[in-house]
Amino acid sequence: MSEIIAVMNQKGGCGKTTTVVNTATSLAVMGKTVLVIDMDPQGNATTSFGIDKTKLENTIYDAIIGDVSVKKVTIPTFIKNLFIIPSNISLSGAGVELSKKENYHIVLKETLKELPPLFDYIFIDLPPSLGVITVNALVAADSVLIPIQAEYYALEGVADLINTINLVKKRLRTPVPIKGILLTLYDKRTRLSKDVYKELKNHFGSTNLLFNTVIPRNIRLAEAPSYGKPCLIYDSESTGTKAYLSLAKEIIERDGGN
Ligand code: ADP
Ligand code: MG
Repeated sequence: MSEIIAVMNQKGGCGKTTTVVNTATSLAVMGKTVLVIDMDPQGNATTSFGIDKTKLENTIYDAIIGDVSVKKVTIPTFIKNLFIIPSNISLSGAGVELSKKENYHIVLKETLKELPPLFDYIFIDLPPSLGVITVNALVAADSVLIPIQAEYYALEGVADLINTINLVKKRLRTPVPIKGILLTLYDKRTRLSKDVYKELKNHFGSTNLLFNTVIPRNIRLAEAPSYGKPCLIYDSESTGTKAYLSLAKEIIERDGGN
């Protein structure tokens, strides 16, 4: 059975897309079959795999608003075992259109039921908001992965995020466990990074929620998307690549190690 992981934080620039693209790639290279669902109208995950978002026949929009089958919108990437449902600017009006629908919050969940039982992992990349799209992802997901950037106020938005998760849990009776909290953009040279790490440890250390893997600030991770490649393909020896491989291993271990 697939495990659907929504990568979520309403803060922009905290490494959601980078985490989706590189964790999915790592898992695919480790032999898992993986699907990335790009649910951000910016389509950054789509372009990170070298796909021209302006030339797409179908996107996630057509699957959730239009009547194109989800199978038809799922396309292979150039990496073996790794597929994507791409996105582009057409998704930007979807929130409004969705909210007109009855049971608007279950649209994505219903759509994904039509997927073939092919995937070990499905990652949903989300925009920086807690809107209708994010609520749909929460309802469809089995768990949530929260990237947190090593900077001041890193924890400030997290309380709101966890409140939203709890609200969905209560209102829709859909429990969405937190898969893990991931410290990103960590710079070992700065005191600030160390302080944020300590703060996260204090806050979540006892709950096992914090991943042991920390994602370093690594220029290769930032460069790779402009070449249309995940970091593992762009520079397999980079510290960024190694960190996301380690995260993928940790995810498999958390799932019981198969
Ligand atoms: P989000 O999807 O949360 O908005 P992104 O993954 O797009 O965040 O990251 C924001 C910017 O920071 C991008 O330019 C990305 O390439 C860069 N970035 C993300 N993670 C790292 C990292 N660990 N090291 C260096 N640059 C990073
Ligand atoms: Mg993004």
